[in-house]
Amino acid sequence: MKKPHFIIKNKFQKRRELYSDILTPIILKDVCERVTGCRDYTYEFNDTGYNEGRLAIIKYKGRTNFISFSEDRVMGRNSSFQSFPTALVRYHQEENKNKKIFFYFLPSSGNYETPYFKFIYRLMKTAGVEFLNEDDFLTSRIHFFTAVDDIITSRDMNRGRNRSNQSTYLTRGSDNTIQIYGKTYGASKYETTLLCLALSKIATTGIELYEIREGNLRILPAPAREVINNLGTIKIISTDLTMERREFEENDSLRSPRYIFNILERLGPKKCSFCNCEIPQLVEGAHIWPVADIKRESNLSQAQKLEKAIDGNNGIWLCQNHHKLLDFHILTISNEGELKIQSNLDEISSDFIKDITTTNQIPDTVLTSQFVGYLEKRNRAFQDSHYQILI
Ligand SMILES: [Zn+2]
Repeated sequence: MKKPHFIIKNKFQKRRELYSDILTPIILKDVCERVTGCRDYTYEFNDTGYNEGRLAIIKYKGRTNFISFSEDRVMGRNSSFQSFPTALVRYHQEENKNKKIFFYFLPSSGNYETPYFKFIYRLMKTAGVEFLNEDDFLTSRIHFFTAVDDIITSRDMNRGRNRSNQSTYLTRGSDNTIQIYGKTYGASKYETTLLCLALSKIATTGIELYEIREGNLRILPAPAREVINNLGTIKIISTDLTMERREFEENDSLRSPRYIFNILERLGPKKCSFCNCEIPQLVEGAHIWPVADIKRESNLSQAQKLEKAIDGNNGIWLCQNHHKLLDFHILTISNEGELKIQSNLDEISSDFIKDITTTNQIPDTVLTSQFVGYLEKRNRAFQDSHYQILI
């Protein structure tokens, strides 16, 4: 009978070494035994092209096995997992239906178990990856996610301090859709791809991927985009502002993924600023300077108006109750960030609002100078004397 056969592209894209230097006979034998049960194997290191995905392929008994290897050097959180989604995409592209994908830890001096790495391992397992040697390298077993909301919560907990470096956001829309807001270039595209492939395994509701484009920067790489499209469970929506321009022309409200993305970047996950409600289906982006008022501003060009309408500084997260109360001017925010209520409101309504509102001051983190600028524009038309401090 034929022995298992390794096919490995030998060249790195950015390093001088070769994969044959790293994937020693001892490692290949161990991988082969764990994947196929056989100790003997044949192999070829192929010098054409680069090895994308830190990948080896073993063909054996009609099955194509993809094995992606961990980094063998200490890497930062953004670069450590850039290869794996490429391997996963390659696996999905494989036409042989009899296929499996594995992950193998290589010895390295780095920490294998940072909270972020553990989050990524769980996503990988959810996406269908088998870990070949986790017991040798990790102190606790990796559990796959069983519910989308666990992924959303874990994603929020593992967000880097510098939000702009971690520009994939996962949340739900008011219709319960799972929404992925992802920059589709740079390091974020790898995380976006992995999130999509993991979510599609366990989601029971629709998934929308909003591709956040910037100028001519690339959309998700074509192979990843095609694989995500072929899953049939994820709707890819490009946000090149075409939708926003049309909406802005036609409506006084603005349905804009770009605006939501900008608020996510500014404030983090959805959480009502007035009551701390974190149920994403109930929390919306609320304009401070309303879209209708922006449209009436005579000394701004159309492009400048749209810019104001989608500016993350021109918004806060509010639950549906508080959003309506603000829109109808039953509640207002002073230029100093104090939350105020209409003075002549009946007592029952007033008591209800006090019950559901947990603060009377917008936190300093939200109250940037740009935000205050929008407050001043909003409040131009209002008499502060008609409102009083809550509580
Ligand atoms: Zn609220």
